[in-house]
Amino acid sequence: MRSVRDIKVLEGIPVLVRASLNVPIKQGKVTNAFRLRSALPTIEYLRSRHAKVILMSHVSGTGAESLEPVYHAMSSFIHGMKFCPVSVGREAREAVRALSPGGVLMLENLRRNAGEEKNDPGFAKELASLADIYVQDSFDVCHRAHASVVGVPAFLPSYAGFTVEKEVKELAKALKPKSPSLAIIAGAKFSTKEPLIRKLLKKYKTVMVGGALANDFIQAQGYSVGASLVSKEGQDHIRELLKNKRIMIPKDAVVGKKGAKRLEGRITELSDIRPDEMILDVGPKTVKELQERAKKAKSILWNGPLGLFEDGYIDGTRGLMRGIAHSRAWSIVGGGDTEAAIEEVNAHEHFSFISTGGGAMLDFLAHGNLPGLQALD
Ligand code: ADP
Ligand code: MG
Repeated sequence: MRSVRDIKVLEGIPVLVRASLNVPIKQGKVTNAFRLRSALPTIEYLRSRHAKVILMSHVSGTGAESLEPVYHAMSSFIHGMKFCPVSVGREAREAVRALSPGGVLMLENLRRNAGEEKNDPGFAKELASLADIYVQDSFDVCHRAHASVVGVPAFLPSYAGFTVEKEVKELAKALKPKSPSLAIIAGAKFSTKEPLIRKLLKKYKTVMVGGALANDFIQAQGYSVGASLVSKEGQDHIRELLKNKRIMIPKDAVVGKKGAKRLEGRITELSDIRPDEMILDVGPKTVKELQERAKKAKSILWNGPLGLFEDGYIDGTRGLMRGIAHSRAWSIVGGGDTEAAIEEVNAHEHFSFISTGGGAMLDFLAHGNLPGLQALD
């Protein structure tokens, strides 16, 4: 993978940067600028070498949303930045032509054009025609075969930006953990995380399965899980995985009736879950075991909240964070909901690295590569 640092000539050259500007917007205002700040090093590197920087990104939603609020937020970091209300066509070409060396232009939400998510070659070619060089700096979209991710780099010399480089470097470390190692995979939807669990079982000493994912395993051990969320398929896969000695399953649980808030939940042994109760978090015995393992570990990888933290079932997740905070291990964590849980208790500084990847992180760890990274070769 070639890095932005490997680009020989930048003076006056238009560079199309696939940036990660998909930030939360409420009432026309950006409510969290973390990603915008993370995008700055690559932009500043290109500007300081007098390239013409063209930023392109999506913002999630219906596809109709505008990036204009993001442009306003970003303008406080990049003085004199410009905005173009479309992403391709004559108006976009003219906006690029009007850029002076060192200038920065932000294109409108890529997903306003249906060609983006369909990876339409015509759309990709039009985007590519705006610049001479492509830089991928949005790791979180690299698992998607979209026009701005895999289409454009087919037409231009392509490089990785600093955030992509850093993600790949850190995630590669997670695939070579130091022993003893601990991986925790929790959250929901077993089928999306099964390939990763299988991969990690080959590399980590302990792979703890938690959150709603664990319900299937608890049920397969013969316990009654009441009204808990369980998968419909894959029971035989789970029985097979349970034979692996490296798998760790919760020892106890916090249960509650559907819709009940944390205060109404109760701690229980797995053998005593009533038919109308759901497993909503791991219990204190499980947290204690996790903390002990985290303390001994040299490498820790974590994805997925251990409980329904949005409804207040955050004790398990918080306990795990504490365990990681008190450990001297190198630690990496990621996932959209996991990040939200970390945000909720303001625990960012406890981790060696927080991936912005979400689905891209899971795919990279499971398969060792991503379409958007392969497209850079
Ligand atoms: P991430 O986005 O970090 O990869 P996931 O999307 O896999 O995480 O899962 C997060 C969701 O799983 C959260 O909404 C969380 O509330 C839910 N969850 C975790 N444990 C449970 C549980 N025991 N019962 C129901 N939902 C749970
Ligand atoms: Mg999620």
